[in-house]
Amino acid sequence: MSHTPNRLWTLADLIVITWVTIVSGTLLLLAWLGSSGTIDEASQQRWTAVGIAGLILSGLGTAYCLVRGRRALGRKLSLVTDAAVLARGAFAHSSDQIGDGSQPRLVASSDMTFFHREGCMFSEGKRLRAETREEHERAGRSPCLACLLELAS
Ligand SMILES: [Zn+2]
Repeated sequence: MSHTPNRLWTLADLIVITWVTIVSGTLLLLAWLGSSGTIDEASQQRWTAVGIAGLILSGLGTAYCLVRGRRALGRKLSLVTDAAVLARGAFAHSSDQIGDGSQPRLVASSDMTFFHREGCMFSEGKRLRAETREEHERAGRSPCLACLLELAS
């Protein structure tokens, strides 16, 4: 599985968002300057139309931003789901072979809510005991998300 960066927006998205912000902000500023400098109603209506165009563009930019971010988040969530499916097998496998050194041991302390593969960053520096997956689950612990993502990458 390929590694995806932990960002919601690509550089291209940020460039689009920046330009939309600059253009819509400029339209709003022009509309304000144009309409405030005259008492001619037709001219004020034209500048109001420019201001409305700026507001619509700004709204479209925000919508673009949200849609792109939501899609990136959806891809990340599906990665976690894939990892959970993958790890169900991988964790189960390692629990059968605890102690033979071919698989990381599954470790936790009695007060932890997650169990980890030995070497996980969240298990470093803690006094942990290795148990089988079944023993961890009987104690009410779930597999750690960082361990699941590590397995999937
Ligand atoms: Zn972990």
